[in-house]
Amino acid sequence: MTPKHASSDVTRADTTSLSLARTSLLKFVGLLAGVFLLAGLSLFYLARDLDRTEQLESAFYTQKAVQALEKTSRSTIKDYAFWGDTYRHLHVEVDTDWAFTRQNVGPTLYTDFGFRGLFVVNDANRTVYSVVNGELEAVAVEDWLQQSMSDILDKARAGAETETTITTFINVGGVPALVAAAAITPGTDPTVTRDDRLPSVLIFVDFLDRAKLESIGSDFGVEDLHVATDDEIGGAPAFPLGADGSAGSLRWTPEKPGRRLLGTGLPFIGLGALLVCFMTFVILRRTTAGALALDASYASLQNSQDSLAISEARFRDVVEASSDWVWEIDEDWRFTYLSERFEVVTGLSRAAWIGQAINDLLSTELGSLSQWLAIPNRRPDISLLCQYVDTKGRERITRLSARGMPNKGFRGTATDVTEEVEARRRIEFLSQHDALTGLPNRTRLREFLDGKLKAMPSVEQPLVMLSLDLDRFKPVNDLLGHAAGDLVLNEVSSRLADCVRHGDLVARVGGDEFVLILTDMSSQEEVEALCQRLIDSIEGPIRIDDQEVFVSASMGIAMAPNDACEAAELLRYADIALYEAKSGGRNTWRFYAGDMNIRIIERRGLENDLRFAIKHGELRLHFQPRYRIADGQMMGAEALVRWQHPVRGLIPPDVFIPIAEESGLILSLSNWVLDAACSSAARWPKNLFVSVNLSPTEFKRGNLVERVQKVLHSSGINPARVELEITESVMLEDTEGALGVMHTLKRLGLRIAMDDFGTGYSSLSYLRAFPFDGLKIDRSFLSRLDESDDDKAIIQAIVGLGRALSLTVTAEGIETAEHLNLLKTVSCDEGQGYYLSCPLDDSKFNALVGIAASADVENSV
Ligand code: C2E
Ligand code: CA
Ligand code: CA
Repeated sequence: MTPKHASSDVTRADTTSLSLARTSLLKFVGLLAGVFLLAGLSLFYLARDLDRTEQLESAFYTQKAVQALEKTSRSTIKDYAFWGDTYRHLHVEVDTDWAFTRQNVGPTLYTDFGFRGLFVVNDANRTVYSVVNGELEAVAVEDWLQQSMSDILDKARAGAETETTITTFINVGGVPALVAAAAITPGTDPTVTRDDRLPSVLIFVDFLDRAKLESIGSDFGVEDLHVATDDEIGGAPAFPLGADGSAGSLRWTPEKPGRRLLGTGLPFIGLGALLVCFMTFVILRRTTAGALALDASYASLQNSQDSLAISEARFRDVVEASSDWVWEIDEDWRFTYLSERFEVVTGLSRAAWIGQAINDLLSTELGSLSQWLAIPNRRPDISLLCQYVDTKGRERITRLSARGMPNKGFRGTATDVTEEVEARRRIEFLSQHDALTGLPNRTRLREFLDGKLKAMPSVEQPLVMLSLDLDRFKPVNDLLGHAAGDLVLNEVSSRLADCVRHGDLVARVGGDEFVLILTDMSSQEEVEALCQRLIDSIEGPIRIDDQEVFVSASMGIAMAPNDACEAAELLRYADIALYEAKSGGRNTWRFYAGDMNIRIIERRGLENDLRFAIKHGELRLHFQPRYRIADGQMMGAEALVRWQHPVRGLIPPDVFIPIAEESGLILSLSNWVLDAACSSAARWPKNLFVSVNLSPTEFKRGNLVERVQKVLHSSGINPARVELEITESVMLEDTEGALGVMHTLKRLGLRIAMDDFGTGYSSLSYLRAFPFDGLKIDRSFLSRLDESDDDKAIIQAIVGLGRALSLTVTAEGIETAEHLNLLKTVSCDEGQGYYLSCPLDDSKFNALVGIAASADVENSV
């Protein structure tokens, strides 16, 4: 018998026993109901029996009571009749005095014994002595009793010899009466001799009236003893008095102990039945719940049998459906089984690997796999990462779990986790590295730095931190697109990494900011040599598609332990040095020096001073005239701001404009400039315009248009007489925003010129796309003119370009007559420079325009 059959028999047996238990319970309950019914019936029977017994008993006691009454009468009469004195005083002669008056046989018999009538009947059957109700009366007994007494008298006389008395019940007018009679004899009195006459008879009459009957009834425990009335005749129970009840019959109400029993017993039985019903209900309910639970357990039992039955199939399904493959090896570590999935997952042949050693397939970082499997008490729930090489030669990672088999050898599963492990490694890497360049990020930098600082760098073996920032990287990004920018960053990253030694760190900490940590530098010269190498490397052209892009870098250097020993301080000092390098003209490096900090503190002071200066009118405007090259006609002037510092004197804008831009003071500064410039220009001759420099940040931070409108309104100047100078960086930073603002400004009627053309990217596309009215060639072109002929060509090209785009081209920094001549030859439109006019203060400029509104170019200086 298979286990399945065996246990299904068990189930059936259990099910039968369950129903058996249920039927047994029901049978038991039925039985119990029968018992209760029987008990009820028995109670009824018992009650009836009890009642019957009680009836019989009460009849018996009624009889006893009557007999007792007769006995009392007889013994009483005996005492009086068989006595010598009675014989002498009531038979021999009737002595009423002795009998009644002296109360020998007189009224006390009535009062003490209740005899209603006392009679003496002589030998001639004549009543000679009568006491009725205690009174002496002359009434014959037969008259009083209304019946013949001959029978009684005869019987009484007959008992004279033996001195026996008789009693009999008679009916007197419906009332039964007990008549006791005895012949009067001398008794045991020897002094009296009997005569020959018939003996006289003494008669006592007792009436069984209601009171008498109740009294004797209660003496014998018979309730309600009474003489039956006419309508009671015939019913039981009854006790006949006299022969055949001629004297009447007695009745009583027997007690009903049966009924009492029923009264107390029945409720108990009922209660018991009720209790049984309730208990049955409870038990049934429990049984049902139990049965249900049992059913459930049977069901699960069934299920487990089913699962047992299908486990093999399921195992097969699972083994082949899961991405895992299942393996078994013998005690020689050779594969004895490999599931079909093995081929799908690994691409390797099952047939080829069966019989091969598991160590040949899988390798681990912890030594050979067989060693690991053989570890005594190895926990089977701990898995191991293993590597193998798939058919395509790629290394795959699999998670192996193994259990020992009873007959030696092992079996287990192998889960391919290559992707998972790689993803985790990637995440770990990304959390510490910059996604774009793959260089360590700020987090990794901090870790690395902390580690290196813990190793206590020394003066001889310092830790060098180099903060590097690309110069003019942003334009590359904006002009050529982010993809190109990313390429540049990647290229720079790998060039930086190539320059440092193994064990150093190159981290990318911002858009175009890098930090290098160098550990093996012993002298400043060594560091400087590296800086030069870095600059040379970065300056090399970077090819993007068919273009060549050039970037450069500025660097700041701080060293531990000389400058600082804490990571945060080192980073800060390197940044300060970097800032200095940038201020120092970019594409260079600076070592951190203590006074750099002082300069920074100074800068802070200047910032505060500037805030004060704007509010308290320390700013001044100078105007540098702009002339038409062709005929020297003054066209207008550029407004250039200066700061009349109370202590430092006149400060040039190159010093404080960057501070204003960084601190956000530029807006209020620029508002002042715009207002002052327009107000002044409003008073100039109408043919002169004013040109105002705008900072790139003003384009970014809104409401430029409103501010301009406000100034135009307050100054009342014709917008056509106002030109705004903006640099390329305005467009680089927010091309669309800048375009919108520029179009609005144009609609207001203002002119817009591109300033410092040629220093930035000098993008032609910007010139085309943006609504410029003019461009100003940066003064660096003219200053280099002596050194190279290229710049002349460039100036010529720019002028030609401007003309092509209908732009007014202005040359800046005309310092010599040669400059001016050159510009004339290339037909540059306008020009400004020290050679023509220095920037002039308000009064000088007013004097200039008032006195010489159209000064000759040659004579202007
Ligand atoms: P910029 O816009 O290129 O202004 C022309 C600068 O060249 C002025 O310097 C001017 O004094 C100087 N310059 C004029 N002619 C010659 C010359 O023949 N040779 C040489 N070497 N320089 C000449 P400044 O006034 O020091 O202004 C410097 C820069 O400060 C300006 O360059 C401009 O970018 C900025 N700037 C001046 N005023 C303001 C202003 O009100 N607002 C803003 N945002 N920037 C201003
Ligand atoms: Ca300018
Ligand atoms: Ca300029």
